[in-house]
Amino acid sequence: MIPLLDLKAQYQTIKSELDAAVIRVLENAQFILGPEVAAFEKEFAGYCGAAEAVGVNSGTSALHLALLAAGIGPGDEVITTPFTFVASAATIVYTGARPVFVDIDPASLNIDVTRIEAAITPRTRAIMPVHLFGQPADMDPIMDIARRHGLVVIEDAAQAHGAEYKGRRAGSIGEMGCFSFYPGKNLGACGEGGAVTTNSTEYAHKIRMLRDWGTEKKYVHELKGYNYRMEGIQGAILRVKLRHLEAWTEGRRAHAARYGELLDDCGVRLPEVMPYSRHVYTVYTIRSADRDALRAALQDREIQTGIHYPLPVHLQPAYADLGYGRGAFPVAEEAAAQVLALPIYPEMSDSQLQEVAAAVRLASGADDRLVSSVNLR
Ligand SMILES: *Cc1c(COP(=O)(O)O)cnc(C)c1O
Repeated sequence: MIPLLDLKAQYQTIKSELDAAVIRVLENAQFILGPEVAAFEKEFAGYCGAAEAVGVNSGTSALHLALLAAGIGPGDEVITTPFTFVASAATIVYTGARPVFVDIDPASLNIDVTRIEAAITPRTRAIMPVHLFGQPADMDPIMDIARRHGLVVIEDAAQAHGAEYKGRRAGSIGEMGCFSFYPGKNLGACGEGGAVTTNSTEYAHKIRMLRDWGTEKKYVHELKGYNYRMEGIQGAILRVKLRHLEAWTEGRRAHAARYGELLDDCGVRLPEVMPYSRHVYTVYTIRSADRDALRAALQDREIQTGIHYPLPVHLQPAYADLGYGRGAFPVAEEAAAQVLALPIYPEMSDSQLQEVAAAVRLASGADDRLVSSVNLR
């Protein structure tokens, strides 16, 4: 079986470092926040090119606290994309604000910047672009629109560790960037984790308070806060993994380039890399009008695939109350019907890449000549 990702293979490559890091925390017994989390925050901020990073217990908590730090609340509107993991919109709803969706660009699958201004109302307070699958949204026009309308930009960078927009790292461009360290993300904890990056000491200070019950001084609650603290063990693990992230990312990028060669001209649409992007391929997504048949054919050959995401957020039952119907965002709806994620992880071998590509070519009816030449290699 070729899995979509293989965390056991990753563990084997860093086992001794990771084991030592966990034992260090068991011995120092700093289980919540503590020195490992503080050190990780410094190192991760440096990696992102941001002044500060604040560690929290999930990407969802990172988004929620970034919105709260920006003062978003009931009556406000936040513009985002419907083609994302549900957390982007859910966290807007947590604050009492309303998510206002803008359709996506068919090439990048990220928010269509040409449609943002039409969605701005007197209630709009923020824009939340999502760097989907590891490719940054088109940030220059977004920042320009935000400046002209006095809006805060909160990057959902949960899939974009190390991704770059015109040479700037995801999470360092908007007022705040929100990362997830869910195990399957490019930088994953051994459990839940997240962080907010920012260049603003004010936002960082507020988020540090909000993640720990709104306190600065123990048992004095200046803000209505949360228990969103990062665990010490996760901080220690993330420090180890951060040291490998660039090598892993280059591995993913090499695999994506190889898929590009192997799947060239075979009738499926490959991920489009925008000229401003360093794509980090958290997800390698192809598109096919015959997606479900393609998926079944790969399944028959024991190749695992994923669909991120089969239903855009505006069509999710839980968000029907927002009042969007089918047809509201046709580009997102078409993408949801066509996307298919292929296995990609740094430890994948070239023969595995060839096997996946050969199966895709065969199932999509591409010429057999290339398939057999792939098999002969
Ligand atoms: C994973 C993810 C989140 C949520 O992160 P968690 O750590 O799972 O809470 C938010 N937004 C996007 C785009 C994600 O992919």
